[in-house]
Amino acid sequence: MTIADWPAAERPRERLLALGPAALSDAELIALFLRTGVPGKSALDLARELLARRCPLLVAPAMNVEMWENAATQRNVLALRDDGIAIAGPAPGDQACGEVGMGRMLEAGELLAEIESFFQPKALAGRRVLITAGPTEEPIDPVRMLTNASSGKMGFAVARACREAGAEVLLVSGPVALSTPAGVARTDVRTAAEMFESVKSSVQACDIFFSVAAVADYRVANRSEQKIKKNGGRGMTLDLVENPDILAWVAGRKNAPFCVGFAAESENLGAHAKDKRARKGVPLLAANLAHEALGADDSSLTLFDDRGEHPLGRGPKIDLARKLVAHVAALMAGTKR
Ligand code: C5P
Repeated sequence: MTIADWPAAERPRERLLALGPAALSDAELIALFLRTGVPGKSALDLARELLARRCPLLVAPAMNVEMWENAATQRNVLALRDDGIAIAGPAPGDQACGEVGMGRMLEAGELLAEIESFFQPKALAGRRVLITAGPTEEPIDPVRMLTNASSGKMGFAVARACREAGAEVLLVSGPVALSTPAGVARTDVRTAAEMFESVKSSVQACDIFFSVAAVADYRVANRSEQKIKKNGGRGMTLDLVENPDILAWVAGRKNAPFCVGFAAESENLGAHAKDKRARKGVPLLAANLAHEALGADDSSLTLFDDRGEHPLGRGPKIDLARKLVAHVAALMAGTKR
């Protein structure tokens, strides 16, 4: 059969054609899944369908490490990228053939994230974004510390949403148990002082700063090098010193990036958020109720800016992060640093 015999109405015209070596289906996004080797589908048929498609193509390669690293494969991958075809993966690790190296297909969840990301508007294309996330830990002695209950999930969701929107993203994270979103660069820190140093060294090169971290307000002045022993019921006193306010410092710089602050409140959300936005000197503040947000996958978020209050509703943190990114992009539209 030639292309002339193949009615246009029957050719793939879904929003995205996803091609990979394992069956994967997402009813909303992938209406057609093709695989070489499926009975009745020869490689030639596959090539014909791909060339005649009327939708974007995302390829999830998986092969032996030597095949993947072969110059011919790499040349072909570059050619596909040049043609605007999205490549998802591969990942390094154990291979079916017994070798170890680059060539594993992304896990199904990662592949789904790539496909979702594919459809996000590229509202931050060309922007460089710096994000702080998670808690900080302030040591008391070698085994004890002051910290807070932040899981880092909101900051990581913001990092993912910014990356999906086409930004170059650096995430400065306190201690969390989360994996880094695809395509995001990450620096791990422990204390507020380390987070501040990391932000200082990267802020110059960023256009947007999201301060999502729950930075410990105080650190211990008389930190002990040795484990502190109990002292027979006499109690103990810790001297605390206030940590620098990283967000206020960034927002106060000459040529400051567009700054987004976060506030987790336990009551009077609106009043506290408006007050905090003014005190920190930031154009946008995202606020939620701490007991609804801490550690949870869902949250609700309200944005406060010069135009007033914008409730984003309740939902998964990644959905809220995408809405936040859209709001930031709209506020920044037409602005250049
Ligand atoms: O003052 P408060 O801690 O409630 O303000 C929260 C906002 O300020 C968040 O955006 C947080 O990341 C930022 N912050 C900071 N450095 C601090 C304390 C808070 O950047 N030392």
